[in-house]
Amino acid sequence: MTENQVEKINKLKGIAVSPGITIGESRFIDRSRAKILYQYLINDEQVNGEVERFKEALSLTKEQIITLKNSMPDQIKKHAFILDAHVMILDDSMLSDSTVSTILNEKINAEWALKKSTQNIRKLFDQIEDEYIRERIKDVEDVAERILRNLAGKEQESLFEINEPVIIVAHDLSPVDTSAININKVRGFITDVGGRTSHTAIMAQSLKIPAVVGLESASYQIPDGAFLIVDGNAGEVIIDPDDDTIKLYQERQLQHQRYESNILQVSHLPAETVDGHRIAIKANIEFLEEVDVAKDHGAEGIGLYRTEFLYLRSNGIPNEEELFADYKEVAENMAPSPVTIRTLDLGGDKFSSDLGLTTEMNPALGLRAIRFCLREPKIFKGQLRAILRASIFDNIRMMFPMISGLQEILAAKKIMKDVMDELDKEGVKYNRDIKVGVMIEVPSAVTIADILAKHVDFFSIGSNDLIQYTLAIDRINEYVAYMYQPFHPAILRMIKQVVEAANNAGIGVGLCGQMAGDPLCTLILLGLGVNEISMNAGGIPVIKKIVRSVSMKEARANLEEILKLDTAEKVRELILKKMKPLIPDLDEMTVYGQMS
Ligand code: PEP
Ligand code: MG
Repeated sequence: MTENQVEKINKLKGIAVSPGITIGESRFIDRSRAKILYQYLINDEQVNGEVERFKEALSLTKEQIITLKNSMPDQIKKHAFILDAHVMILDDSMLSDSTVSTILNEKINAEWALKKSTQNIRKLFDQIEDEYIRERIKDVEDVAERILRNLAGKEQESLFEINEPVIIVAHDLSPVDTSAININKVRGFITDVGGRTSHTAIMAQSLKIPAVVGLESASYQIPDGAFLIVDGNAGEVIIDPDDDTIKLYQERQLQHQRYESNILQVSHLPAETVDGHRIAIKANIEFLEEVDVAKDHGAEGIGLYRTEFLYLRSNGIPNEEELFADYKEVAENMAPSPVTIRTLDLGGDKFSSDLGLTTEMNPALGLRAIRFCLREPKIFKGQLRAILRASIFDNIRMMFPMISGLQEILAAKKIMKDVMDELDKEGVKYNRDIKVGVMIEVPSAVTIADILAKHVDFFSIGSNDLIQYTLAIDRINEYVAYMYQPFHPAILRMIKQVVEAANNAGIGVGLCGQMAGDPLCTLILLGLGVNEISMNAGGIPVIKKIVRSVSMKEARANLEEILKLDTAEKVRELILKKMKPLIPDLDEMTVYGQMS
């Protein structure tokens, strides 16, 4: 890259998804699949050379897997058996011997021969009845992909193998990738794709790693090893900054850290308005390990435990005992504060072929969340058993995601009842009166919230998906990310409708999407009358400070004015006008939440 080109692309603008400033070297993570080309070998020397090349790739792959296993962080060591299985596949003659004989007999290159062996193995697996075993073909294909990468001299890097402090640059990172991030080494990450409410962005906030997504072509423009400044507050990336710019950002970094420690001081006070109205402020977590961070930031409970990440991290289905141990620990650690466990919300951007999800044309509208669970009752039951067993710790509640109609609630509850009967028969204890709620995140559920309210103990509004499905914007698509509008009158009216339905039925109503942690939304949510808001732990102190600075009287009066406005822009302007005099450090606060 010439000086001129660097100059031209010196600053890239994307979407700020996780606050903080980080400065350091970039590390490009390549997630493209290895390409396979057919090649006919013309003489014996080439054929023998190809066999040798394949054998070397095999042993290199084995070495890599063993190293990977030995360097697994303690928290996820229990999943090491997956890597043991991969080593066994490597040693299996169906893969290795058959590839060698194909190279020898058909005189073709190792890549093509390996592809043929994998296809043959797939045919055999397709005939297996047991679904779990049939799905293990994915392990074989993963192993084959690793060998292919080694044949091509291209190694697939896992994010927990990264051992130097770097800023990750990638076209895309999956939630599986982010859940394997080595938080002691990875200083930040930037991606070409993604939006503010993509699960990869949510993970970055949980890990407290500055991140910018939706940069469109950063992974092509930034050379590996380039020096970068990532500004997770402004959503900017500066490539090869000069000394003055570095100094400026180092000062901003310190300012940010100072602000963070100041704000933490209010985090343990109650979220009570100046006129004495109290709401519960809770944390969203993806992993058990986040409970301590949640408590440190003043969370009054876990309002959303996104349990699917445990499945993604496991690369398969964790067994009931593992799930039970995990839920039990979260409940015990958080006691006596409540913990709301959301049942599996797989699908959409939380994709894993290891879990039997197939590639879909429109995954967000496809086999996601409760739909997946109702179709896979065995997997669903396993989770329900674990939740119910853990429910003897009285602080556990459970909720179902992506409900679009009453039928789904009834079907899910029927399965829950079957599981309860099974546990009764086995003499296993559980809380028979466990509170069961649903997420309201599909427009149809809003419209019939009055009907649904009669069948559940509480509602939790999932504003991320509600915005996605109402405004028809893919939450991970960077090109429509600008349309993520929590202040859209349609969204505000919907939340109002849900709160009214909940109040009429006498059940609780919370909100657990990114709006909960957005400082510009707090006054509106208070005015709308939600009982609890649940957010990434990092946002809690700021939101508590706002709640403690305003009155419920103001919040209600504001809401009346807001509901008369006809565009999101007008709502935003009014909110800024009202909040600025009430909260002098609003500008700084907004970088902590996902500012709208
Ligand atoms: C939501 O949709 O707002 C929500 C909280 O759930 P998730 O982000 O996990 O889809
Ligand atoms: Mg959702």
